[in-house]
Amino acid sequence: MNSAIAMKRYVIFTNANLVCLTGDSGWAIQNGAAMLTLDEKIIAIGDETELINLIGKDVACEKIDLGGAIVTPGLIDAHTHLVYGGNRADEFELRLQGASYEELAKRGAGIMSTVRATRAASEEALFESASFRARELMSSGVTTIEIKSGYGLSAIDEQRCLRVARRIGQVLPMSVKTTYLAAHALPLEFAGRQDDYVNAVCDWLPALHADKLIDAVDAFCENIAFTVPQVRRLFDKAKSLGIPIKLHAEQLSDLGGTLLATEFNALSCDHLEHLSAEGVQAMAASGTVAMLLPGAFYFLRETKLPPVKELRSAGVPIAIATDHNPGSSPTLSPTLVMSMACTFFRLTPEEALRGMTVNAAKALGLIDRGQLAPGLRADFVAWPSTIEQPNQLMYSFGQAPKGRVFIGAKEVVS
Ligand SMILES: [Zn+2]
Repeated sequence: MNSAIAMKRYVIFTNANLVCLTGDSGWAIQNGAAMLTLDEKIIAIGDETELINLIGKDVACEKIDLGGAIVTPGLIDAHTHLVYGGNRADEFELRLQGASYEELAKRGAGIMSTVRATRAASEEALFESASFRARELMSSGVTTIEIKSGYGLSAIDEQRCLRVARRIGQVLPMSVKTTYLAAHALPLEFAGRQDDYVNAVCDWLPALHADKLIDAVDAFCENIAFTVPQVRRLFDKAKSLGIPIKLHAEQLSDLGGTLLATEFNALSCDHLEHLSAEGVQAMAASGTVAMLLPGAFYFLRETKLPPVKELRSAGVPIAIATDHNPGSSPTLSPTLVMSMACTFFRLTPEEALRGMTVNAAKALGLIDRGQLAPGLRADFVAWPSTIEQPNQLMYSFGQAPKGRVFIGAKEVVS
């Protein structure tokens, strides 16, 4: 239709140092380059004059000068728990004074305190607080985000949390992927009836899926959460509905959750501090992404490192994320988390950036973003002039540089 053609929007972004991250390794920087976009996609990268010739001088094309900025793909935060009520700052203080998990549980702290606060909050209040967090992340360069449920733990409350996550994707320009994590912890009303709760979690799934509230199914497979056979039942149910899966696995012990998840071709296995050599090989074979979460490692003062060298040599793609949640990683700074991935896990700065862009996209099953290349989405960040080279994003830890953020070639944060 002619009207559709007339609405095409060409933009040429000039004067940029593009960190393209194309290929399997290296920054792939193009200095002093231009990038031509059509609507939401990149169509060419190169010399400004050549790109203008490509579409012809008569075609209307907006020009945006990026002022010599370092430009990276938009950051992708592929593991967050943004929707919850309350906070756990008092628990943080008690932990610093040496309180054990059991003592905290007796005082009503821990994940159940967040479940209580989440159930007590109105859906509007949950939306207000979660969308504030999403905006903070977006202003720090995040253009795509995954949001999990998991603090409702009842049919109605999980549904409310997933609706809030969906609404954030409708109201904000960033892309939102939602994940059903009802198998996060055992709610008090199911005390001593863990299998009954897993059955309920499976029973709630079809209606939530029919309402298009779920993009993936996740579970917490751990001694203090759910066993491998219980998670298998949930994954069987997800598979029967055609929903992709992912798993919180081997965070506190090696339970073998990764072996189960890879059987189901999981998008990602997350945490992985206690991952075995067998688990590494299984992930390599199934193409599952290793999602490392250095914020939780820091905040819980963990000492066991995930097997980064083994993952790297097996060719397992490594992603990182903020894991924003009130109990173990209440950060909203993706650049700080990239820095932590370098200092704690010994990722190179380039691996850290790939972890929050191209490999994070893989962890969400998205193939249209994460690098700067023709055919991909024009989601990118033009960092401030204080960032003169990309490894400064990890080096200047805690400084939270704010750049110009573009989503689908439209500026959303300036
Ligand atoms: Zn998590």
